[in-house]
Amino acid sequence: MKWGIIATWRMALEGITEVSRDLEKGLSAADAIEKAIMAVEDYPFYKSVGYGGLPNENCEVELDSAFMDGDTLSFGAIGGIRDFKNPISVAKKLSEERFNSFLVGIGAEEYAHKNGFERKNMLTDKAIKYYNDRVKETLEKGLSPYEGHDTVGMISLDIKGKMCVGTSTSGLFMKKRGRIGDSPVAGSGFYVDSEIGGATATGLGEDLMKGCISYEIVRLMAEGCHPQEAADRAVEKLNQKLIKRRGKAGDISVVCMNNKGEWGAATNIDSFNFVVAGKDQKPAVYLAKNVDGKTIYQPATKEWLDAYEKRIENSIE
Ligand code: ASP
Repeated sequence: MKWGIIATWRMALEGITEVSRDLEKGLSAADAIEKAIMAVEDYPFYKSVGYGGLPNENCEVELDSAFMDGDTLSFGAIGGIRDFKNPISVAKKLSEERFNSFLVGIGAEEYAHKNGFERKNMLTDKAIKYYNDRVKETLEKGLSPYEGHDTVGMISLDIKGKMCVGTSTSGLFMKKRGRIGDSPVAGSGFYVDSEIGGATATGLGEDLMKGCISYEIVRLMAEGCHPQEAADRAVEKLNQKLIKRRGKAGDISVVCMNNKGEWGAATNIDSFNFVVAGKDQKPAVYLAKNVDGKTIYQPATKEWLDAYEKRIENSIE
């Protein structure tokens, strides 16, 4: 049987590499998502997810996460949770609830506490340094504070044909306290239906939500589009609509996969990357960019991968 997994951004590579071996042997789509996203959350030097994620304008790390089961359409979502080690595990547990499946702030923290999830101070010294530097830079140069984000969004297909999706993010760097993006919002940051496929997004949440982009991609796949066509069409349509109505569009990048393990990716920026693995595909990083309204991508070169690792290693000091 086919299996597959695809995720936004290079930071998902280690997690995907780890779970790929197990998906081949029968690991469930749900466990694959949780395990692979936990690997990103736990890694301190990815500055937009989990531990080490960049803080809001009050220098607090508020995390958003969601999990969805494509068989039952159950989802669990949390927004603005503070001081819990693995938001994806809390979201996955919440997806078992019939009611109250989207909790924010104190409510999410109470739920996580009652269910025994591990607490952790998620603000690292490095994140505080970033914060202080950015406050200074923003004041001095008038730069936009809302940079330095990226969400890990991941879709999996297991050998039994079940599909799941998960997201985890610290959201926009310097966001207002209580701001929640698209990542925990069903249909915008994620959506999956095992009878069709799944999609997940990263970029400017405020704009991604204007197009309910993940649901739109799944809808296009249901109409018969190949995942690549669905991703291209949905991104281009939302991008054009935002430009027409508002004069500009924020960053929009997506990945998707159907229940045959076929996949697609699209972006309106010039430096998106993603990771994919499957029955006939070793875990690989692809670099994507938008050229004249169309997304093109190619496997990352060894030079790019080495430079990425060096950058991350350097940030360890
Ligand atoms: N979409 C996320 C948000 O708006 C951020 C990102 O994916 O870069 O919170």
